[in-house]
Amino acid sequence: MAVTMTMNSKKFGYPEPTRQTGSSAVDAYKEFDASELYCARCKQAVPVRKRLLLVLPEGDKYEYLCALCSATVGTKMDRQVKPISLIV
Ligand SMILES: [Zn+2]
Repeated sequence: MAVTMTMNSKKFGYPEPTRQTGSSAVDAYKEFDASELYCARCKQAVPVRKRLLLVLPEGDKYEYLCALCSATVGTKMDRQVKPISLIV
């Protein structure tokens, strides 16, 4: 039995003002990660910017910057997902 909750999940987010036109708002949104990290400089949990730091053979290393003061609040290693071929 499959129950879809997609309609309910839409009500979970903030009521977004959709009056604004232009794609700049959408582009800015992509810069932000969903999670918030603690910034030592701001002394609070802040929205973070994700920035590509290094490209390594095993994956990409990202740096998280505080959206308020641009201090580095963390790094993350994004491992490349290799296509898995299933042999049945
Ligand atoms: Zn900060």
